[in-house]
Amino acid sequence: MKYLYYTVMMYMLLALGWWTVLLLRTHNELYNVKTDLVSIQFQNENSPGEISGSLSQELQSLTSAYHNKKLMILGESMVFGLSLVLGLSFIRKSYQNTLIASKNEKNFLLSVTHELKSPLAAIKLIGETFQKRHLSNEQSRQLQDNLCSETNRLESLINNILMASKVRRDFAIQMKSINVQPVIEKIIQNQLAMHPYVDLQFNTHGSCIAHVDQDAFSLIISNLIENAIKYSMPYPSIVMNAECKEGTLHVTIADNGIGIPVHERELIFRRFYRIGDENTRSTQGTGLGLYIVKSLVEAMKGKIIVRQNTPKGTIFEVTIKS
Ligand code: ADP
Repeated sequence: MKYLYYTVMMYMLLALGWWTVLLLRTHNELYNVKTDLVSIQFQNENSPGEISGSLSQELQSLTSAYHNKKLMILGESMVFGLSLVLGLSFIRKSYQNTLIASKNEKNFLLSVTHELKSPLAAIKLIGETFQKRHLSNEQSRQLQDNLCSETNRLESLINNILMASKVRRDFAIQMKSINVQPVIEKIIQNQLAMHPYVDLQFNTHGSCIAHVDQDAFSLIISNLIENAIKYSMPYPSIVMNAECKEGTLHVTIADNGIGIPVHERELIFRRFYRIGDENTRSTQGTGLGLYIVKSLVEAMKGKIIVRQNTPKGTIFEVTIKS
């Protein structure tokens, strides 16, 4: 597609260039014919003494008209060329955006169908097992745990879908000064209870008072930690930092996972965007998490950036002015 675009653009520019050259040549020939005609006309109509003054005047005005027309042709062809390049770039950009949007939509439908169906199927199966079989206490406790975790998964998916539509329209941010340290610690505790195999280190420099919306902030942090775990399997090692310095809250979440290619670092914040192909991907998700995170960070007038971790993995950095 890229090569086709550049080839078409080159052909069109070459055609335009050739058209300009031909037009200039014709214009040149016309000028020569005109000057010859005028000279002959003057020679026929006037005696030799009278010719030189008025002929040179006539030739001067022909020459100045010739130069003006030449400039006009060059100017017009430059404007055409520029419009051509801009128009083609615009068409290419719109085409690419449409392709990305349709790929994202397809990915979303595939993933959401899977994400909705699998916990529902598990919940149904657990219900049927309770109905049909006599279970020991141990078995029944195990099934209840599974039921809770599948229900949580379903709830989190539905919350994400609702939140994604909410942040687009009427999400009301309520900023107040809070100590973010215990908020982050609580989220970490919950995540570690669900994923006890994760190695998570949290560095903070005492209490950190920041001006944020507590619910939005919690959602941002839990989404980023969940992603850090999900994309660093099987041995997630995460380092988190939170610092309030010079009236600004900085939070970084660094993982040792698969990393994010440079050209996708902007795209991952788009709605439904997921790296790779849904048919071959092994991780669960809908591509809504980072869209929600970015929308919430921006609603609090903050910024989020993503960069490479060393030796591997990703660092997400959230900055919010207090
Ligand atoms: P989801 O995780 O549901 O797919 P997100 O919006 O949270 O959706 O993330 C979008 C995409 O960004 C993910 O599909 C994944 O490819 C990539 N991504 C997000 N976080 C990370 C991370 N910590 N490491 C590597 N890739 C990530």
